[in-house]
Order: sequence, then structure tokens, then C-alpha cells
Amino acid sequence: MAVWQDERIASICSQMPNLTIMAPNAAAAVEQNRLSKSDHNLLAQYARETSGDYCAGCERHCSEVLPERVPIGDVMRCLMYFHSYQDHGLARSTFEELPTRTRELLTQLDFTEAEKSCPRKLPIGQLMRETKMLFVLLKC
Ligand code: SF4
Repeated sequence: MAVWQDERIASICSQMPNLTIMAPNAAAAVEQNRLSKSDHNLLAQYARETSGDYCAGCERHCSEVLPERVPIGDVMRCLMYFHSYQDHGLARSTFEELPTRTRELLTQLDFTEAEKSCPRKLPIGQLMRETKMLFVLLKC
């Protein structure tokens, strides 16, 4: 409902792998109810409180300060699919689409400057190493 009411958003791509997820999404699209001001305030509070829990994909901040480009947002998506979606197949296939050089750099680069540039203060170096550990060493 928040997305439907936000005039800044023209379209989204929302994964709906089952009816449990699809049904409320469809209801939000067709129902005439609107979110209250209190609902919006609670959503904004939730967004503030969880902003450090996930990558926003704003790679212009982090990737561009590295000596060699790493698509940090794509790597973070692998972790999101693995941990948050629990979709290990999608996580692995996304990781396997990364260039070989990217996969090498995950444990070779110093990500300190990228971490300083991240507005969400994510521990980028640790997360890059975790990604390599999951998909290369542990072969998850
Ligand atoms: S700056 Fe932080 S939030 Fe933005 S893409 Fe990089 S790691 Fe993700």
C-alpha cells in the first residue's frame, strides 16, 4: 500500500513466489483503503531503525572509492537472497554470474575506504569475505 500511494514510484518488480505473498499484494492494489498518517510514521520509524541491516544498492558511494571496481551491491544481493530470502539456489546462481575477477577481489581488496563511504555503515569487508566463504569455500 505504501508503494501504491507513493507518487515517486512508477513501477516496481516484486517477487511473489506463492499465493500467501501474492494475495495481500493484490489486495493492496485493488482496495480503496489508504494508509493513515500513523501508519506512515510507523513505516518511517521502521525504515530508520533497520537502515543498517541491509544494503541499499547505492554503489556510487562505495564501489567508486576502490582501486578496482567491485559490484558491491550485487555481492550484497547474494547474501540477501541467502540469509533473508532463504533462497540458496538464487543466491548461488547470482554469485556465479559475478565476473571471476570480482570473486577474486572479495578477499584481496581492503574495503576500509568503501566502509567509510557507506551511508549505512555496513561492514563491507567482512560481508565480502563472508560471501566468498559461503559460495567458494563452503560451496553453499
Ligand atoms: S554504500 Fe553501503 S548501502 Fe550503498 S551499495 Fe555500498 S554497501 Fe550498499
